[in-house]
Amino acid sequence: MKLSLVFGLALTAAAFLIPAIMVEKPQGDIMFAEVPAAVDESLPEDGSRQGETGEDGKQPLREEVAHSVFDSNTVIRLQTDEGIISISLRDYLRGVLAAEMPVTFEPEALKAQAATARTYALYRVDRGGVHEGADVCTDYSHCSAYVSDELLREKWAGEYEEKAARIQTAVDETDGMVIKYGSELIDAVFHSTSSGRTEAAVDVWGTERPYLQSVPSRGEESAPRFSGSVEIPTGELRELLLGVIPLADLSVPVSQWFSDVVRSEAGSVKSIAVGGETVSGREIRALLGLNSANFTVTAGESKFIFTTVGYGHGVGMSQYGANYMAKTGSTYIEILEHYYSGVTVESYAAP
Ligand SMILES: [Zn+2]
Repeated sequence: MKLSLVFGLALTAAAFLIPAIMVEKPQGDIMFAEVPAAVDESLPEDGSRQGETGEDGKQPLREEVAHSVFDSNTVIRLQTDEGIISISLRDYLRGVLAAEMPVTFEPEALKAQAATARTYALYRVDRGGVHEGADVCTDYSHCSAYVSDELLREKWAGEYEEKAARIQTAVDETDGMVIKYGSELIDAVFHSTSSGRTEAAVDVWGTERPYLQSVPSRGEESAPRFSGSVEIPTGELRELLLGVIPLADLSVPVSQWFSDVVRSEAGSVKSIAVGGETVSGREIRALLGLNSANFTVTAGESKFIFTTVGYGHGVGMSQYGANYMAKTGSTYIEILEHYYSGVTVESYAAP
């Protein structure tokens, strides 16, 4: 469905917020592997439910609408584990931000993430969605991670009001703002932590995107998963490799299992030969559960050590890099213009 239609219809509802149809249930198994586990970070697990009788500090409806006309009046269809729900973009973005970025991040970093998430969702809405009857789903690896308000109240418990307000402010202060390349919405991919340079889309997915180029990214060293390592016993590694690369010749000395490494400008392994068979760095990352495809291999007699830099695919905005930029005085627009080459940040409705 074309978004403008939905928007137009929704506007006729005047000052009423589009209520989220509350059929979703808490999703206990939300996965956050590609991004920081924001919801689970330093949160009490004994969340007592609160604020369901109206005394929860919610703003009056009219004030909410005044703060976020576009987001409040835009309805998207969200595929959840329990079915499809209609939800305002404002409520959806709150749930995405809570799931995709630590709430403790700087306000301008949260705003950059809000604009990224809005762009990411509307990009899919404009293309009619790739889900039967829905615009986006809650699978982080396909669309964006999302956590319902109900679950946030449980997770954040006594800190709910303060934390939800940080996120809501980031969404509302960027109301309707999206990232465009020319007149088109960009595919606003992002990741947790880069190696110090982001990856060009063409190096990771083979798809050239003028706005997804390799750019420097400062301050990544402070990210919790900037560097990592995985140790795998030699016998186990042999089984794993032969399982997906059956033609690999691993009868050679272990020091020769891996060879012919080709790296991107930012350092990720584009391709590597395994026992003479060439595979991509992404395949090795997925097979071995590495933090990133930016890895080096050390072969020992009994085990291999894979050492990684960065966390995630490395393309587009780095969340930890964005937080560093925010800490050092950049606005969310400056952050976005840094990570997405040649873009403008403007309202969705702008021509
Ligand atoms: Zn999806």
